Amino acid sequence: MLVVGAGPAGADLARQLALQGVDVLLVDRLPSLERAAFSSAAMPLDALDRFGLPASVVAARWRGWELFGPSDRRRQWKSGRTQGVVLDFAALRHWLVAENRRWGGSVRLGMRALACRQEGDQVLTSLADGLGQRLEVRSSWVVDATGQERSLLGDPPRNARNPLVAGVGLEWLVEVPDPCWERWAERLAFCLGSDWVPQGYGWVFPMQPNRLKVGICRLLDPRRPQPPLGPLLGNLLERLFSPAERRAMVVLDRHGGQIRSTIHRREAHGRGRLIGLGDAVSTANLLGGEGIRHALTSSRVLAPLLLESLEQQGEEPALSTPLGRYPAKLRDALGWRWSLSGRLARRTWLGLNGAGADQRLDRLLTSLEGGRAEDLSALLFDYRFERYGLRAMPYLLGWR
Ligand SMILES: Cc1cc2nc3c(=O)[nH]c(=O)nc-3n(C[C@H](O)[C@H](O)[C@H](O)COP(=O)(O)OP(=O)(O)OC[C@H]3O[C@@H](n4cnc5c(N)ncnc54)[C@H](O)[C@@H]3O)c2cc1C
Repeated sequence: MLVVGAGPAGADLARQLALQGVDVLLVDRLPSLERAAFSSAAMPLDALDRFGLPASVVAARWRGWELFGPSDRRRQWKSGRTQGVVLDFAALRHWLVAENRRWGGSVRLGMRALACRQEGDQVLTSLADGLGQRLEVRSSWVVDATGQERSLLGDPPRNARNPLVAGVGLEWLVEVPDPCWERWAERLAFCLGSDWVPQGYGWVFPMQPNRLKVGICRLLDPRRPQPPLGPLLGNLLERLFSPAERRAMVVLDRHGGQIRSTIHRREAHGRGRLIGLGDAVSTANLLGGEGIRHALTSSRVLAPLLLESLEQQGEEPALSTPLGRYPAKLRDALGWRWSLSGRLARRTWLGLNGAGADQRLDRLLTSLEGGRAEDLSALLFDYRFERYGLRAMPYLLGWR
């Protein structure tokens, strides 16, 4: 079995297969997994348990929300209990890959997959290392876990009813003095409104002591000129941190990336013996720019189906074969609220471009003010819109 891409999806799948004794090779084009730690990686507490993640991959815990904007509004929701964690993305990937090795799986870093083709019941995948040396790997299945790039599967055909929606993010990891860190500790802070980030949002997340992640993410609107991210991040830093705090701030890393998903996830999840996983089949949720949990969900769905197919030495994934059931099982696992959250993402972020949209967002946030931090977590992480019942529905349906 060849798994291409050692992100959360591919590395988790490889470790599950290796644990079951499958001969698995995991490759990634990155020479080191410390590089490109592009994800800010906030997640709710229950996901840690569900995916069996250890404390060593956790950078910080949080127990409340702080929302800045629209304009100068500021709202807080606090809980007495831990609500979630911010993962150390590099540590997470490192741990998953180490587990795969521990269970006997092979890992080759610095190897880029170029293409694959099926020959009979085998797949031949061409790989190249950093020096351009080519290598062909023969396997019974290939998993494309290369994230939103979909390096082997390719983008789904253009479809006006289910377009591929893209967002771009930029994030700095900064070191700050104690009093500044304490101000941002134990909460997820977001900046919302078109004068903060048009078509998107900004954030400040606590990391290890004295470290913060400050970032912005914006959905791309092909119909409008798109403001560059750098000045938007500069504006956010200026508004959130005093001149003295900015002078004392040390930038440890700058990174960023893209997030791309279709809203309804109706694209093909594979081709012959090539199967897509994680962001490669649109498991990144556009509402919260969140994909790690869902990438792990996709590997939890695919692993048993692949094992079943390997046992049966399955043919092509027709609907009746274990892998034929993969798209439907993944849709079930992501839940019926998924498409609604995607629609809300498009409406909220792409529409966030002026005073009218700010006023609508402000009314929605005001309607959420009386709720608990737990309810806001359920809304943003579990897409439980119905908890807010009729208060949020008019916004979701576009009536206000
Ligand atoms: C700025 C930003 C902030 C984010 N913040 C959060 C957040 O707070 N919480 C959250 O849950 N999610 C967040 N996400 C999204 C999350 O990072 C992704 O959804 C998640 O990492 C997807 O996992 P994956 O394994 O499918 O793909 P990826 O993590 O993208 O992994 C794909 C891997 O494939 C490798 N690869 C690509 N092409 C090839 C090739 N041809 N050959 C070999 N290897 C290849 C890449 O190097 C990479 O290691 C954020 C994303 C961005 C861009």
